[in-house]
Amino acid sequence: MTERIHDLLIVGGGLVGASLACALDGSGLDVALAESEPATAPMIADADARSLALAAASLNALAALGVLRQLPTPPAPIRRIHVSRSGDFGSVRLDAGEYGRDAFGGVVAATALGAALQARLRQVRGLRHLSGARLVALREGEGWREADVAGEQGTTTLKARLVVGADGTFSSVRAALGIATTAHDYQQHLFASSVRAARAADGQAWERFTDDGPVALLPRLGGDYGCICTVRADEAEAVAALTDDDFRALLQARLGWRAGRLLAVGRRSGHPLRQRLAQDLIATRAVLMGNAAQTLHPVGAQGFNLGLRDALTLAELVGGARGDAGSAAMLAEYARRRADDRAQTVRFSDGLARLTALPMAPARGLRSLAMRALADVPALRARLASGAMGFRGRVPALAGDDSLAAQWAR
Ligand SMILES: Cc1cc2nc3c(=O)[nH]c(=O)nc-3n(C[C@H](O)[C@H](O)[C@H](O)COP(=O)(O)OP(=O)(O)OC[C@H]3O[C@@H](n4cnc5c(N)ncnc54)[C@H](O)[C@@H]3O)c2cc1C
Repeated sequence: MTERIHDLLIVGGGLVGASLACALDGSGLDVALAESEPATAPMIADADARSLALAAASLNALAALGVLRQLPTPPAPIRRIHVSRSGDFGSVRLDAGEYGRDAFGGVVAATALGAALQARLRQVRGLRHLSGARLVALREGEGWREADVAGEQGTTTLKARLVVGADGTFSSVRAALGIATTAHDYQQHLFASSVRAARAADGQAWERFTDDGPVALLPRLGGDYGCICTVRADEAEAVAALTDDDFRALLQARLGWRAGRLLAVGRRSGHPLRQRLAQDLIATRAVLMGNAAQTLHPVGAQGFNLGLRDALTLAELVGGARGDAGSAAMLAEYARRRADDRAQTVRFSDGLARLTALPMAPARGLRSLAMRALADVPALRARLASGAMGFRGRVPALAGDDSLAAQWAR
């Protein structure tokens, strides 16, 4: 009997790896997915309180992939975005209506998106899904790669024409390939939670930059907000220990009164903030995507949106590459197509995180100027808006299909 060689082995069944498996459903390719967590574990831990802002492009794609219909409630539309900086003049207001759209995107709880992807994964035809299977070694063969995955039953060796590293910030695939990273520690810690305010959310997102980092409110269905609150790393422990009421007061002080009085906060999860960028996206018969390729500061709400575009691009390319799913030509094309979107999105997220955190007076002047320019120059605002909607670089076909917006924008 000839030994089975998969077309693709996806290492990591988080938001991005699972999206890739869904995007390959029906492609006719032989796909395996190895995820280190057991089958019974939720994709996103219940304790994780983050809300995800999904760009219009991402929602188009998730609708086409049949993921959105697995959500218990639709995403909450983001119709207006207000950006300001404490201590600076000017603010920027973006209204989706100005761009002929109903919404820039929508908000879902990360846990709900994880559960929806897990439900959709169960329907993917022909997928060899290994849970509790951690990649421990990766070797190069002749025309394939060989991966050892360790689980409760021992170690299994899998062969594939292409290995996809979708295994997160501390990627084992990346390490095994010897791909170096550059890292930046923002010395900040982010708390995610939900908030009820006197003024119900109603499509409005607020983003406010302060000397200690950004705070933001994202609209959720039912009038509540998802919130992020960034603090200096050396304050993280103290903030984690605050009572809900003291955390609510901290948020109120940082946000001001735009959403009115903050009435109650939900459970809180803490996240250290680091940027980590892989120096290469591809190697022989291997590719990195999502957080394994680039872990960003979450201030611009770009990480998953960008990782999803990685996954969609690869699915398009391997779907079209008859024969060898790991060919050097296909991988070179993947790296070429991802370059612009990746560079722009990294610059945007990092620039936002760094510039807005500079408290010095000259920087303040620059920031005020930048804010005013954004507020006054329609072309600049339009660029910001299209980035927020995920239409950057060469947009994958499923993400660019706006006829699907009817399935999520209402
Ligand atoms: C507070 C916060 C707010 C955010 N808000 C937004 C937002 O609004 N919008 C947005 O687009 N993005 C946002 N992000 C970013 C987004 O959450 C991430 O970019 C996204 O979750 C990355 O998904 P991933 O699948 O690449 O990685 P991960 O979610 O880390 O998944 C990696 C998977 O690989 C598995 N794994 C790891 N090692 C191995 C191994 N050796 N073998 C097998 N499996 C392995 C893990 O168990 C995991 O399931 C936010 C991030 C944070 C921290």
